Amino acid sequence: MGRIETEDVRTWLVDLDGVVWLAGQPIAGAREAIAAVRESGRRTLFVTNNSGPTKSVLASRLHHAGIDAGFHEIATVSDAAASLLKVSEDVFIWGEEGLVEAVEAAGGHIVDEPAKAATVIVGWSTSFDFDLLCRVSSAVRDGARFIGANEDPTHPTPHGLQPGTGALLAAVATASHTKPIVAGKPHEAMVNLVHKMSTGSLEVVIGDRPSTDGIFAATLGLPFALVSSDATAKEGMTDEVSPLCHAPSLLEVVNILFSRL
Ligand SMILES: [Mg+2]
Repeated sequence: MGRIETEDVRTWLVDLDGVVWLAGQPIAGAREAIAAVRESGRRTLFVTNNSGPTKSVLASRLHHAGIDAGFHEIATVSDAAASLLKVSEDVFIWGEEGLVEAVEAAGGHIVDEPAKAATVIVGWSTSFDFDLLCRVSSAVRDGARFIGANEDPTHPTPHGLQPGTGALLAAVATASHTKPIVAGKPHEAMVNLVHKMSTGSLEVVIGDRPSTDGIFAATLGLPFALVSSDATAKEGMTDEVSPLCHAPSLLEVVNILFSRL
């Protein structure tokens, strides 16, 4: 019996914030960069640690940037976090629509009070007050499972860096004496999600944060290509990550990668 030949389609994993856009505004050259990767016969899978937007919002932001992508080409931290839930589990979300959509799709049951939850998920949110911190950290102290979307300390915007989801996680972790299970890059839930969403082989991770994208690449056993953004400059490099290449824009990074891979 003949063996079924399948072409090895290589996939490039591409971060969004600080790489394709900045605070939702397209970065010059990103469209041409993604088009060039796709024209070379490779696939792109966008991988984001931003738990705020729904998949439709992310797809329309990509479209606005001149890039068409289906939901199967966008791996979100919200889906990674939701993959850790049991069916019908009572979940309290400190976050936005992206997490709500993913938790509902995974069969979780969203409750309106942390005290009623078996699991609390903390993601990107601009709602932060002492009362909510009290209720969420009490629930975790009382035994609720504590899942965090990501540990990103900051979030790049055109006006500089804003506090990221990691700042919220740190508040809950400190007040509850409990470390979160983190779902996003570079952690296991996102590694598993990316494997599940890919066919063929993974070839490279492109991102602007050595501590997440860089370690994620190392965990996957892939080279890391660094797009330098404000987040990179503030964070600096970590000893564990040595990028295959780096440049100030996705387009320049892609052009260098074509000569190296
Ligand atoms: Mg980024």
